[in-house]
Amino acid sequence: MSVLNKDLYADIIIDISIESLDKTFQYRIPDSLKDRVVAGTKVNIPFGKGDRRITGYVVSISERPKIDISKIKDIDSVCEKQIGIDDRMISLAFWMREQFGSTANEALKCVIPVKKIIKNKVERQILPLVDVLRLQEELKKAEKRHATAKKRLLEELIEEYDQGLRYELVTQKLNIAVTTINALVKDGVIKVESKTSYRSSLGKAIDRKEEKSRTEITLNDEQKTISDSIISDYKAGRRDKYLIHGITGSGKTEVYMSVIDEVIASGKSVIMLIPEISLTYQTVKRFYKRFGDSISVINSRLSAGERYDQYLRAKNGETRIVIGPRSAVFTPFDNLGLIIIDEEHEGSYKSEQSPKYSTRDVAFRRAETEGASVILGSATPSLESYSAAKAGRIKLFELTKRAGGAELPCVHIVDLRDELKARNMSIFSRKLKALMIDRLSKNEQIMLFINRRGLSGFVNCRSCGYVVKCPHCDVSLNLHNNGKLICHYCGYEQPAVTTCPSCGSPYIKSFGTGTQKVEEMINKTFPGARVLRMDADTTRNKDSYDEILSKFSNHEADILVGTQMIVKGHDFHKVTLVGILLADMSLYTSDYRSAEVTYELLSQAAGRAGRGEAKGDVVIQTYNPEHYAITTSAVHDYKGFYDEEISFRKLMNYPPSWNMLKIMVACGDEGALLRETDRVKADIDKEISLLGEEGIKVFGPSPANIYKLNDVYRMIFYIKSSDYRKLVILKDELGERQGVEKAVSLQFDFNPI
Ligand code: ADP
Ligand code: ZN
Ligand code: ZN
Repeated sequence: MSVLNKDLYADIIIDISIESLDKTFQYRIPDSLKDRVVAGTKVNIPFGKGDRRITGYVVSISERPKIDISKIKDIDSVCEKQIGIDDRMISLAFWMREQFGSTANEALKCVIPVKKIIKNKVERQILPLVDVLRLQEELKKAEKRHATAKKRLLEELIEEYDQGLRYELVTQKLNIAVTTINALVKDGVIKVESKTSYRSSLGKAIDRKEEKSRTEITLNDEQKTISDSIISDYKAGRRDKYLIHGITGSGKTEVYMSVIDEVIASGKSVIMLIPEISLTYQTVKRFYKRFGDSISVINSRLSAGERYDQYLRAKNGETRIVIGPRSAVFTPFDNLGLIIIDEEHEGSYKSEQSPKYSTRDVAFRRAETEGASVILGSATPSLESYSAAKAGRIKLFELTKRAGGAELPCVHIVDLRDELKARNMSIFSRKLKALMIDRLSKNEQIMLFINRRGLSGFVNCRSCGYVVKCPHCDVSLNLHNNGKLICHYCGYEQPAVTTCPSCGSPYIKSFGTGTQKVEEMINKTFPGARVLRMDADTTRNKDSYDEILSKFSNHEADILVGTQMIVKGHDFHKVTLVGILLADMSLYTSDYRSAEVTYELLSQAAGRAGRGEAKGDVVIQTYNPEHYAITTSAVHDYKGFYDEEISFRKLMNYPPSWNMLKIMVACGDEGALLRETDRVKADIDKEISLLGEEGIKVFGPSPANIYKLNDVYRMIFYIKSSDYRKLVILKDELGERQGVEKAVSLQFDFNPI
């Protein structure tokens, strides 16, 4: 055998669904298979003492044996079997690793939920296989042989001949050994039967006795046109991508449900993605009423066991519709027909953990490989989706009217600089206060919304609204603990300011008002008004979120104060006033998406008002009444907003115009981090000179938003490119690099949020 012919070794995972997913076994790849075995290949391997033949998945390949070569077995062959759902999910994992950057294990864990030790509640019964006479004969035999355990079991079984015995009762209470039971099984006297009782996913919120009832709604013309068009594509075997742009309350959910009807009637299954925060009792109940027990619901409050049950139910075809947040996109349906992503613009559709996948991209990928359609829906589509629709890559539909005839609210923009001039120092503008008094007197409900997104220290002037921005990046500078103002994109820094560079006012500082403070102010200003508060503090408890919402829904309070949590999807018919206390909070985060986020939040918040009969009012308090995100949201003009925003993105080469890769370099040792960051920078520059500098730009390094987190220091690079593939190549090359400082890690995030 030639010594020069280098052997290759494959790390193989043998069972993808158990907790020890991290454990791989190394096998040699025989020469005859070298061309065919790559990461992700399913192979047949000998395993264990008896060299039992099992299948496994190749996770990675290397030239380095990890153990004594003589102990490494050969891969038998490549599996030729028909592709099952597991294989498809695994190839999805490898696609994700490639697209978003992660280890193979991280990607696999993402697509396959891990089976925890908690087993299904398996109910085992011991049942007689023979008649009572024969049992009595067996009993006599046992008595003769002084087999006391067997005797006890048979006595019990004769007594409970009809129902049989619970296995646990026999082994634990009657203290009968498993060998005794097995002996009787072997003799054909009894059998042990297992019944799996799945844990329900619907939770106590849904009264399961409530009959599945269809409140008949006739789709209006706009809804019907969309539904018909998607269904006729579907029936004709055309699988496509659709975007339904429809203002809140325009009846998107009704359209989804009518398409779902069609898809499940054709024998296929449906994944319905809804952001966790909108996955309320109201929503689930609506689907349950329409589709009954064919739905299952996944949310983060399920235990690992419950989650695994839902996974199995889907895999076994016992569920037809899965409703859940982003991870539900990995539901292992073997016959997927449709994926719906409601509120597709939501940031929660981007994973925060490696692989930092975009749920939309994963859904598109699954749909393409499995022959399914995708429907995206939103009142405020992401720039990505809307621009794809405009470019013809996604079919665009519009719903322009509120279903059920409710009118859009009237939006008032209040310039807070005028309030200061009028010596109103309160957090309630004169306009908002007047409307609040009016609504309280009419016994109508009010929602007050504090935009806390990006409360990360932008600095603005209370007198003129001036915001301190980076001269290079057109995003706000952030105040750091060291008193400096820093740009998170390019690292530019300057000392903090004490007077406004624009008007000279001393009222220039970083902003912050908490929900608690607002609650106090309401109690002071409107004594007697009943207030509910909803924020991270008051919803820590498992069910408190639903509790607060249902209390408010039952009109047990007049005012609901909250963070962005309260603006999503809830349908309160008695709310006729929505106040947005400071719209600008999200406008000047150090994030290129800040205008988009602001437009979304304002539209969603405004969408809460006047969902019932009475027309609603919305008050937007701001220092930037002329900002396009605010002016366009006030008149419900998404297209106007989109045109402004997309030209900004194009000008600055931000996504979706270009793609952006964020590289985080992290280390607990600051010195090592800074030394290695310099080397990473050199490697990036070298790689880019190989790739060609055309259409690619590097920014940074600069300190991360939170530079030190859990004693780990982090530096950031942003690479922008017109070509996604160049970024993937760069990620692959950097991912392979052997750093000089071993403790330093690199993390990748494509088109970060
Ligand atoms: P969206 O998902 O766009 O926010 P929904 O589907 O939740 O809108 O509809 C908003 C409200 O209007 C719901 O209460 C729904 O029952 C009602 N609705 C939707 N479509 C119709 C229709 N065609 N006729 C009457 N009511 C409708
Ligand atoms: Zn000023
Ligand atoms: Zn900058």
